[in-house]
Amino acid sequence: PVFKAPDYAGHEQVVFASDPDAGLQAIIAIHDTTRGPALGGCRMWAYPTEQDAIADALRLSRGMTYKSALAELPLGGGKAVVLGDPGRDKSAALWRAFGRAIERLGGRYVTGEDVGTSVADLEVVRTATAHVAGIPEGGAGDPSPATAFGVFVGIQAAARRRLGGDSLAGLRVAVQGLGHVGLCLAEHLADAGAELVVADLAAERVETAVGRYGARAVAPARIHAEPVEVFAPCAMGAVLNDETIPELRAPVVAGSANNQLAEARHGAALAERGVLYAPDYAINAGGIINVSHESTRTGRPYDRQAAFARIARIHDTLERIFEIADAERIPTSTAADRLAEERLRAA
Ligand code: NAD
Repeated sequence: PVFKAPDYAGHEQVVFASDPDAGLQAIIAIHDTTRGPALGGCRMWAYPTEQDAIADALRLSRGMTYKSALAELPLGGGKAVVLGDPGRDKSAALWRAFGRAIERLGGRYVTGEDVGTSVADLEVVRTATAHVAGIPEGGAGDPSPATAFGVFVGIQAAARRRLGGDSLAGLRVAVQGLGHVGLCLAEHLADAGAELVVADLAAERVETAVGRYGARAVAPARIHAEPVEVFAPCAMGAVLNDETIPELRAPVVAGSANNQLAEARHGAALAERGVLYAPDYAINAGGIINVSHESTRTGRPYDRQAAFARIARIHDTLERIFEIADAERIPTSTAADRLAEERLRAA
């Protein structure tokens, strides 16, 4: 049942959009528009069942509400999923039909790039609706460098709290995943004098990090257990779970991946182990902060300097979360939820 699904609670609207001629089956979940239009990317995935697609859309849209509220952006939370194999089922007709479905929502939902979708797809969506964020023309473009910068300042905040200083010189950081965000983060870390340990499923990305930044490569299955000061998950979700948490040797976990905790209780498991966890949606908000500075949102030309100055405030948000967690003796993940809910209520 959808209405009784745990992640349905709080949703304002869930739209099932279909266009058989265009091969479109999509779900657009609008969680909360209290702070502004529901902004969240569009994921395309060959979900095993419709139920999986609904569950993903609901969970992701709710996450966007919390992310934007915590970052104090004038945005709500939403997310779209398109059911299909991104390697096989994409067509211009499909993206135009998806754009029309968004257009019918009159701006309540604004889409963007996510797993399985690209800027090229969004350019086609844009022909049917203006409610698209993160595309190069008139926009801020690829959000990944902004996300990576936010994670970098977040690691500094966590290092200050747990390791006694903002400086990352000589600190060992294990980066899991060297994609759009991970590789850019590796560059910031190397520039700051950190020693890098890296892993990726793609050998050429590992070679790039080894060649450019003198990183040491390890097996993807073991990167979480490396003896380092910071473990930075920048690949897939649910990486902090019953198997990996007992094996962690890093006192800090701070990375870009969405939904890093396999279940909410793993936030407490990290705290019990003495690991300082930078909550994922707090530290990886750089991309959405950047998008919120696009001309379509502000009415002014995109100003990269202003956007990045705002992203740097992720440092302060994390400090606040760490303070609340300490003062109330709660996991940092719970502290982040409370702060986000407070900011949502204030709006
Ligand atoms: P990406 O697809 O460009 O990169 C992911 C990388 O992880 C790939 O190189 C892939 O080979 C690697 N990988 C996958 N499984 C792995 C494993 N088991 N071990 C090691 N490496 C593995 O994605 P991205 O845009 O860099 O995003 C990374 C993470 O950050 C995702 O969880 C994403 O949801 C999250 N995120 C990204 C942004 C953004 O702006 N791109 C914003 C917020 C959150």
